[in-house]
Amino acid sequence: MKSLAIIIPVFNEEYSIIGNLSRIISVVQSLTELSINILLVDDGSTDATVQLIRGFISKEKNLHLLCLTRNFGKEAAIYAGLTFAKKCDAAIVMDGDLQHPPSLLPEMVRLWQQGYDVVEACKSSRGPETRAKGVMVRLYTLLFESLTRLGIKNHSDFKLLDKKVIEAYCRLPERERFFRGLINWLHFSTAQISFDVPATDKKTSSWKKWTLIKYAISSIVSFTSFPLHLVTALGGLTFLVSVVIGGIALVDKISGKAIGGFTTVILLLLFIGSVLMFSLGIIGIYIAGMYDELKHRPAFIVNEKESFLGDFRQ
Ligand code: UDP
Ligand code: MG
Repeated sequence: MKSLAIIIPVFNEEYSIIGNLSRIISVVQSLTELSINILLVDDGSTDATVQLIRGFISKEKNLHLLCLTRNFGKEAAIYAGLTFAKKCDAAIVMDGDLQHPPSLLPEMVRLWQQGYDVVEACKSSRGPETRAKGVMVRLYTLLFESLTRLGIKNHSDFKLLDKKVIEAYCRLPERERFFRGLINWLHFSTAQISFDVPATDKKTSSWKKWTLIKYAISSIVSFTSFPLHLVTALGGLTFLVSVVIGGIALVDKISGKAIGGFTTVILLLLFIGSVLMFSLGIIGIYIAGMYDELKHRPAFIVNEKESFLGDFRQ
């Protein structure tokens, strides 16, 4: 019998995790042809999530818990789950707040059994979110796709991965990961299904605005060095502008037409100053990324005392 792991990263989900798990388990029970284990990855929850899950595990033998020592972020939690699921024949990654509908699981499994290595669930609508966030996400997607030539429009982290995809993903050496982009970059045979993102009982997303912005920047930086070339292009542009303005200033000087030019000097200083700071910022982002990777710190640390893996196939 083939084995399937369902990996669910959770962070402060005490208000609904048990109800959500019951829904997921009821769908999982219909997939009788597979040996299915659910691996919850607690990403350093500070509420009662872990206690609630531990209580539930005693009633459900196919449920397992992997606790991280602190909040490492959703990407690290997914990576931790996949690292522990390497021996399974396939794994499905899904959110714990039911915004990734469990009703899609049978269809995902069917497509995998047909031979697809990756089955990804794409959002046909984005569910309830502010207009501003919708616009930002669209702009980010446009920028990411045009710079990296990788399509991620409407993609989500709700994916089924075959064993060979899990192995390839875990072999990638980087610490900062962008799950959606990397799975696309690996380019195994992929099937897509679509879903509408349902509303959640959760009042707000657990992603803080600044974390989302940092995540967006690091995902672009980890896939393309184009912004660094932009710095060179900006250097070329300012050089051209300075040649033109310098030429005009010289001609004015020679023909005795030179005037005070105080405003021009201020404007030029501001322009060159901002181009320099912008360029330094771009270079700084790449150096920071290299510095973080160079330290070779692990992407996550497991709290073995709190975890409950039982007979989970590692
Ligand atoms: N999550 C996590 N670590 C974090 C933030 C979120 O493991 O630092 C989990 C969270 O518990 C949920 C999933 O990632 O299962 C998606 O998070 P959320 O619903 O807050 O994000 P959104 O729906 O806004 O993408
Ligand atoms: Mg959510």
